[in-house]
Amino acid sequence: MIRTRFAPSPTGFLHIGGVRTALFSWAFAKKHHGQFVLRIEDTDLERSTPESVQAILDGMHWVGLGYDEGPFYQTQRFERYAEVLQQLVAGGHAYYDYTSKEELDALRAEAEARGEHFWYDRRWRPESGKTLPEIPADVAPVVRFKMPLEGSTGWDDLVKGRIDIANSELDDLIIARADGSPTYNFCVVVDDFDMGITQVIRGDDHVNNTPKQINILQAMGGALPQYAHLPMILNEAGAKMSKRRDAVSVVDYDRQGILPVALLNYLARLGWGHGDDEFFDMAQFVAWFDLKDVSPSASRFNQEKLLWLNAQHIKATTNDALAELVRPRLAVRGIAAAEKPALADIMGLVKERVQDLNQLADECAYFYAKATPSEEELAKHWSDEAAARMLRFADKLEGVADWDAESIHALFKPFCAEEGIKMGQLGMPLRLAVCGTGKTPSVDAVLALIGREEVLRRMRGV
Ligand code: GLU
Repeated sequence: MIRTRFAPSPTGFLHIGGVRTALFSWAFAKKHHGQFVLRIEDTDLERSTPESVQAILDGMHWVGLGYDEGPFYQTQRFERYAEVLQQLVAGGHAYYDYTSKEELDALRAEAEARGEHFWYDRRWRPESGKTLPEIPADVAPVVRFKMPLEGSTGWDDLVKGRIDIANSELDDLIIARADGSPTYNFCVVVDDFDMGITQVIRGDDHVNNTPKQINILQAMGGALPQYAHLPMILNEAGAKMSKRRDAVSVVDYDRQGILPVALLNYLARLGWGHGDDEFFDMAQFVAWFDLKDVSPSASRFNQEKLLWLNAQHIKATTNDALAELVRPRLAVRGIAAAEKPALADIMGLVKERVQDLNQLADECAYFYAKATPSEEELAKHWSDEAAARMLRFADKLEGVADWDAESIHALFKPFCAEEGIKMGQLGMPLRLAVCGTGKTPSVDAVLALIGREEVLRRMRGV
């Protein structure tokens, strides 16, 4: 069974790059009728907070990427890590290192003086024929993993192709600290092994961890998963995304009025492609998805494209669903949505005109209360003459038999003829008289929705 995972570290918020990693892992599992696991990598007790864990869970819920198992928490698995640690030591794959802090500092200083990279000199690594130093009484040991000294460690990356790293570049990694706590790379391996992960799909900032993890996994006797390292997402300027400059958290996109599916659609297209197809839903994405179509190089975020996709998804969303998405945004804007007109009906009229849910919410305002016209609009389209004309048109509206867009529309031509004006001279004053803004969809449809009584009340100023 194919099993993939998303393994965020809860040190802040759900990052947009993390969402794409989750999306590709999720899609891979779905495509192969497998399972997708969520694992919270919270072993860094200083940086992990319950708030960030919650932000990740909320973010996953918001984007709608469901997981088949989890969330698992590394902090709840310490017993298991201790058990594997003992097995590795017993099996001769790991060893206790009693090097004191002073000794390490001296080694580091020597390396620096030579202008070299600091390496632990493996003084406590047991080898046949080697005499180990005497165990000091006052040093709590760390546990180090015995990396192979020769040859190389490699894998066929599903995105980047073949990668081989010389083992001489791998330090004897500390897998447990002096206080016994397990370290990051070790926990990841135990987890991927225990959780039966078959494809490790993650950001390419982890490429350097992979050879370490492969060696540990092999020492545990585990079968190797396949690895796929996804390239970074850069900001529009081509730089690393930063919290200060860029919208990096899913919450930022929610705030911008982006639909989750539009964000996913956009992220899917970022570094992956299916011909010229731009707009699709997640079922379609899963059907098309293949890791071999993921580009090995970084891609740039493009806000304009995201907004374009968002507009397409808004149009494709049902009016009822949109109404529920917009409702919470009305209160924030001080728009009191009455029972009439129904929010869903307004959605049908305005959804073609907007790019995000905030604009959609703004468009609802004049349906419930007349807006205050801008000076410019008044100067351009309003006059005493227009005001008097609107009162005359109100009388016509009062007499319409069926209050619908067609019947209202049918009044326009004869009224203009009677008044001796062009059609273009009716629409704007009518919008201002009823809505208080000229920026509305078809005025006949808008009037039909607002309702006769309210329209007449607004036009007559009573
Ligand atoms: N916890 C790591 C991160 O948030 C991911 C580790 C992995 O996917 O192997 O970057």
